[in-house]
Amino acid sequence: NDHMYFGNPSNAAFLVDSINNYLMRKDYYAVSYSRDRGTPNWVSWHLFANDIGSTPRQDDFREDITLPAGWYQVTNASHTSSGFDRGHNCPSGDRTSTLAANSATFLMTNMIPQAQYNNQIVWTGMEDSLRRLVTQGNELYIIMGSYGMGGTGNGGYKTTIDGGRITVPSNIWKIAIVIANGNNDSARVTTNTRVIAVDVPNTNTLLSSWKNYRTSVDAIEAATGYDLISRMPVLLQAALEARVDNL
Ligand code: MN
Ligand code: MN
Repeated sequence: NDHMYFGNPSNAAFLVDSINNYLMRKDYYAVSYSRDRGTPNWVSWHLFANDIGSTPRQDDFREDITLPAGWYQVTNASHTSSGFDRGHNCPSGDRTSTLAANSATFLMTNMIPQAQYNNQIVWTGMEDSLRRLVTQGNELYIIMGSYGMGGTGNGGYKTTIDGGRITVPSNIWKIAIVIANGNNDSARVTTNTRVIAVDVPNTNTLLSSWKNYRTSVDAIEAATGYDLISRMPVLLQAALEARVDNL
């Protein structure tokens, strides 16, 4: 159950001088964190049937005390009256097996300032669709990230919040590799494997369905400079990354 099974998109490192690409391997997801943006660059996790249970939302938004000493600590209060939602990367709904799993998603290192309509309608819809694939017998490898600067929430356009210490991203993306339940997952990926990728502007003026924002993994790689699913064989990676999901 390796949350970075298909690779480390930005070669994030668990080193205090890797200030804007700091690797945090947690029990329930993995993060590349940017100290200067005050947000994750990306969060990566495996999602399968055992992750989904009946634990209620803990709503215990809090600072992540595992960040290196001296780094600015984003807290729940950092988002007060920001004009944006505290947008989970790894969603609360993907971690309902235990209290510890759900609570882990409320660390501020898992949050971005996300426009309300983007979060509550478009993103929630996508999260629900992906969990439905799990209840239909699949396991997923998911990566969510954000890039750029400047978004429009209920308080209007902002490039930062919290006195400039948290960057508001311009774009929010997610990819999901969908594999039927089984073992030895990498050996079961073929050119027919479903790969879903979306890139959505961080605004309130959006179409309601995430399906309108589907794109290729290649396009997200071009926008971010990352190498996604880098542990997949090169030819397979090229085939899957060029495609745009249309199911
Ligand atoms: Mn959300
Ligand atoms: Mn790649």
